[in-house]
Amino acid sequence: MIKVTVWSEHVQERGLEAIPDYEKLPQDIQEHFQKSAKAIKEVHPNGIHNTLKDLLSEEEDFQVRTCTLEMPECGLTEEVLEDTDVLVWWAHVAHDRVPDEIALRVKEYVNRGMGFIALHSAHPSKPMQYILGTSGTLQWREGDRARVWCTCPTHPIAKGIPASFELPAEEMYGEYFDIPKPDDLVFISWFAGGEVFRSGCTWTRGYGKIFYFQPGHETQRSYYVPEVRQIIKNAVRWANPVVRMPKLDCPHAQVSAEERYAK
Ligand code: ZN
Repeated sequence: MIKVTVWSEHVQERGLEAIPDYEKLPQDIQEHFQKSAKAIKEVHPNGIHNTLKDLLSEEEDFQVRTCTLEMPECGLTEEVLEDTDVLVWWAHVAHDRVPDEIALRVKEYVNRGMGFIALHSAHPSKPMQYILGTSGTLQWREGDRARVWCTCPTHPIAKGIPASFELPAEEMYGEYFDIPKPDDLVFISWFAGGEVFRSGCTWTRGYGKIFYFQPGHETQRSYYVPEVRQIIKNAVRWANPVVRMPKLDCPHAQVSAEERYAK
């Protein structure tokens, strides 16, 4: 059984009620939030986290739970992370509302072996930045068409995926994507505007495996595209820990100066 926790901020889906002090925002911005909440609900009637949960729950050996920003400790208590093999992260407008303490806790668990999958606009999320050490910044434009090319067909995440597949509607993400050099570049996406993007990248940090995957703009239907669904499932299997470390204290560093230099 692979224990998966899907974390999503669950903010845009809820409209204005999820925005602190929304009464202070200009009327047109308030209207924009309400309009976008309606558009997202049409694609993800129970929130993006539940779309992802339903997708992953199709695998009989995945046990999936969801956590969101409004839960105490963002739902990511020590107990939950201890009981999570792979954490899937979707976020967009509320990265700054995740406390540093929680993001650093996620990083610690990844270093100790927990798998981490960052989806779409999670590219500059705090856990992604803390785990990888770069900003995750990129170029973007709403409303484009993408073709996702597999550049590593031998990788477990590419299992069953054709040489390329099309996403009729996606947000364009373009280079330069500020990430460390990936261990494996599994997918590159081409956009109709001419841009290319390293859309499927893997890394390891400590004992943990990390995958970033670009598709999943909130108002578009990428998470219903069979190839995208398969890739996310494959990624969870790949990121499932080989080893979990209870802690990462280095015995060498615990020797006191007196002990070290005593003769
Ligand atoms: Zn987006």
